Amino acid sequence: MKIAFVASECFPYVKTGGLGDVVGSLPKALEEEGCVVKLFLPLYSGIKTEQHNIKPFEEFKDIPIRIGDNEVTFNLMHAILPDTSVDVYFIDCPKYFDREKPYTNDPDEDERFILFQLAVIETLQRMKWAPDIIHCNDWQTSLLPVYLKTNYKWDKLFENTKTLLSIHNIGYQGRFSGMSVHNAGLSYSEYYPGGSYELDNTFCFLKAGILFSEIITTVSPTYAEEIQTEEFGAGMEGILELRKDDLYGVLNGIDSEIWSPETDKFIPFRYTFKGLKNKRKCKMDLVKEAKFDYQENVPVIGIISRFAGQKGFDLMFPIADELMSLPVQWIILGSGDDRTESFFEQLAEKYPEKLNAYIGYNNRLAHYITAGCDMFLMPSQYEPCGLNQMYCLNYGTVPVVRKTGGLADTVKDYHETDENGNGFSFKDFTSYALYSTIERAVYMFKDVKVWKEIMKRGMKEDFSWKHSAKEYMRLYGKAIESK
Ligand code: ADP
Repeated sequence: MKIAFVASECFPYVKTGGLGDVVGSLPKALEEEGCVVKLFLPLYSGIKTEQHNIKPFEEFKDIPIRIGDNEVTFNLMHAILPDTSVDVYFIDCPKYFDREKPYTNDPDEDERFILFQLAVIETLQRMKWAPDIIHCNDWQTSLLPVYLKTNYKWDKLFENTKTLLSIHNIGYQGRFSGMSVHNAGLSYSEYYPGGSYELDNTFCFLKAGILFSEIITTVSPTYAEEIQTEEFGAGMEGILELRKDDLYGVLNGIDSEIWSPETDKFIPFRYTFKGLKNKRKCKMDLVKEAKFDYQENVPVIGIISRFAGQKGFDLMFPIADELMSLPVQWIILGSGDDRTESFFEQLAEKYPEKLNAYIGYNNRLAHYITAGCDMFLMPSQYEPCGLNQMYCLNYGTVPVVRKTGGLADTVKDYHETDENGNGFSFKDFTSYALYSTIERAVYMFKDVKVWKEIMKRGMKEDFSWKHSAKEYMRLYGKAIESK
């Protein structure tokens, strides 16, 4: 099967969150299952072309694309995804991608990803490569299914090409003004209240993608159910209802070559579930780096996150002092909204012996925290899949999570009546539920034997991509069979 995989980020080139990890690892797993995968990404100015051996691609230079009334040109660059034979094509267009960050609030945000998508189609045409499937990811790529069925319907090259759209987070929908329909070169015939491009008076890329793609997936079975409800659907539940027979939840996998305590390049001591002494050494090192006193029986709780409302840290605000009175040391890594950044900064100032906060993005530290902590907190209000809890489970770092989305699918609560749990979880999105669950986990931590069993159960879980890659191939097959 030939797959064009199109996305707005991909590790190791550019990553802002879980999407980057998925795009960096799923193509590899698909290739192992026998697919031919070509990956398409924007060439943001932050991507280090020399370091990643990204080179100009043949004669694909100064290719014109019409955006609204203007003509913009792009060049094509190429690399091979590390440890694979996957071709990675970068759409190079400094006018749109020479910005401080991959995603912006700039007034031309729609144009940036319209250019990207049109450039992908243009590239496929010039390469004369007809994929069986275009696998789209999130709103930045969700006009591709629309283009294939409208502006590019004439092209016989795409006669048998079908589309699958993966929703990694329904909270991000790509909503723009009606002017954007013109920028996209689409017909206004579908832009009217309730029309396929329209949602609440905006041109909604994601809605259009949901309605035009053959198959829609999201990144965990529980989230697939949740987004069909008003509470989690972010206004998209009615549209998903229309496509519910073609909507599937496929749990993300993890790249065990990058995220395994046995081989991790970033941690000072490597380990497996057969010998946990080195995990203790990782904890000692981490605690030293945080300038805390090492205490064997005081658990270290880690947080690594984007700071956004979705992640649930607001629950900690009203109970901060109570949390700091628990016998726990905290290590926080994250960045995002100002409120959460200053909350953790202030706590670190007030309780320097208890809480260490690194505000920013730091891949090495993320690995270090994952290995060195005893527990890991994810109190998410919603969580499409979540990767950190899976990394932590495999590193013997026990997750404490809110039972939602992918967290509900991967973390099984340990409690006295069910001793098969691999972590701790709570259902009510309240500060009280959060506090009492942390308290429960801290209490169980004292029982060294039980704790080791909880850790080992997590370390033995198999979150590799193999199973999910097979599931995607089954869904590609369904898309191909569809009329
Ligand atoms: P989301 O995609 O919503 O951000 P996920 O749990 O799916 O959440 O994925 C987050 C990924 O981003 C993980 O690989 C995590 O380690 C990484 N990450 C998040 N924040 C940081 C940070 N400040 N520094 C380094 N890595 C981070």
